Amino acid sequence: MLTCKEQVARSSDYLDGQLSVRERLMMRHHLLFCPNCRRFIRQMRLLQATVRLMPEKPVEGVDALAERLATQLRKDRP
Ligand SMILES: [Zn+2]
Repeated sequence: MLTCKEQVARSSDYLDGQLSVRERLMMRHHLLFCPNCRRFIRQMRLLQATVRLMPEKPVEGVDALAERLATQLRKDRP
C-alpha cells in the first residue's frame, strides 16, 4: 500500500488523469482506507475547480475599469 507521502506526491497527477491504471488503483485503494488523504484529495479537487473558474486575464478587467474611470473624469471636467 502507498504511504500518505507517496499519495500526496501523486495527487495532482491523479486529479489530472496522468497516472497509469495500476497507479490509479493503488491510490484508490489508499483512499479507501485513509480518511486524511481522502480529505486532501477533496480539497485539491475543490482548489482545481476554483482555479478553473477564475478568469484567465484578470488584469484586463482592471485596465477596462481604469479606462472607464478616466473617461468619466474627463467628462466631469468643465
Ligand atoms: Zn493517506
